[in-house]
Amino acid sequence: MDPLLARRVADVQSSVIRDLLSIVDAHDVLSLAGGLPPSELLPDDAVAEASARVLGRRGALQYGPTEGYDPLRDWIAGDRLGGVDRAGVLVTHGSQQALDLLVRVLVDPGDVVVTETPTYLGMLQALGGSGARIVGVSTDADGLDAEELEAALAEGLRPKLAYLAPTHQNPSGAVMSAARRAHLGELAERYGFVVVDDDPYRELGFEAAPRRLREVVPPGLAVTLGTFSKTVAPGMRVGWVHLPDWLHGPMIRSKQAADLHTSTFAQRIIADLVADAGWYDAHCEHLRSVLRRRAGALDAALTSAFGDRVSTNPVRGGMFLWSTFGGSTFGGSTWRGAAPPDTDALLPLALERGVAFVPGSAFDPERRPSASARLCFASLPEADLVEAVERLRGAVDASEAAGIEVGGAAPLAMR
Ligand code: PMP
Repeated sequence: MDPLLARRVADVQSSVIRDLLSIVDAHDVLSLAGGLPPSELLPDDAVAEASARVLGRRGALQYGPTEGYDPLRDWIAGDRLGGVDRAGVLVTHGSQQALDLLVRVLVDPGDVVVTETPTYLGMLQALGGSGARIVGVSTDADGLDAEELEAALAEGLRPKLAYLAPTHQNPSGAVMSAARRAHLGELAERYGFVVVDDDPYRELGFEAAPRRLREVVPPGLAVTLGTFSKTVAPGMRVGWVHLPDWLHGPMIRSKQAADLHTSTFAQRIIADLVADAGWYDAHCEHLRSVLRRRAGALDAALTSAFGDRVSTNPVRGGMFLWSTFGGSTFGGSTWRGAAPPDTDALLPLALERGVAFVPGSAFDPERRPSASARLCFASLPEADLVEAVERLRGAVDASEAAGIEVGGAAPLAMR
């Protein structure tokens, strides 16, 4: 039946992470793979109470406007975006839907899309089938290297858009520096490309939040995404996007074609919860304190198990540690064997020992083999994180003994 499939889906890869989650669920595996918020902190009781209140007010089960539920749009425009006009806010079915819609609305086959390297796997999926030429720009602990981008632009690269998750990036945890943000803003102005600031982890920072890209990018070119998945509950599937005027109509029409509108019921529950600022702030504060402890525990366990055989990005918030075997987090090598292990090849050895992570190749637009891995510290309690690292050490020792090196295995999704 394959010949009956549209060309645009042939190219859309299954998410390595979603595939891994099914293996992990089926076995006794400690998972550092998925990006799941702590299950025990999901606010079941608060959502149950909010549901009852929302249903009591009527209207929660009816169709609603495509733009979203106005009180929730007002909260996003005011509380999250510092007082913008709510007309620019579109509520989406998770921020993933906003990425999919943006690709539909902006990207023609052959268009250049700039991303960080590594980048968010879900954006690579959203781009699959669009025919985009994805150009990855090096990213280190200070975020996307704006100098490298400037050099590519000077040589003639003409992107339609640049996609970044500059604050506690998934997967690297990197926070783009203020200087690089400003530099990117200048480049967007000079060359006229859209800048997408995908920002799900802002509320999960352990330090003062940096400026949003929309503060440095010309207003007509700045798109900002947010979500309630990391702070309230991913299962509610409520996210949002803030758009310049010229993108409203096309995005709203594309959303109508996709799903008419985001669940009225889910939006009203979220609006009810966040309207209680005391509850919301205390909930986020608690979440941050648990995440900070877990991040510290995972980092310490990695250092004690591997010493300088692994290097990890500084933990400044979010849910992920980006760990590189054999040298500096974003390059270089001090591996004591011939070469650091290829994390695609390491993964089966790790799964055999009961631990899962996501190999770095999954986040590379070119899927190149990588000595890095994304480790999520959010989902497991501290004792399990320590045990997971013990298991990982067994896998790394086995891979070293077997002489598995970077470049020795096909990237996971190809197998
Ligand atoms: N962007 C980034 C960078 C993410 O990490 C995620 C979640 N993994 C999303 C978007 C999508 O989140 P959601 O659709 O649940 O809002």
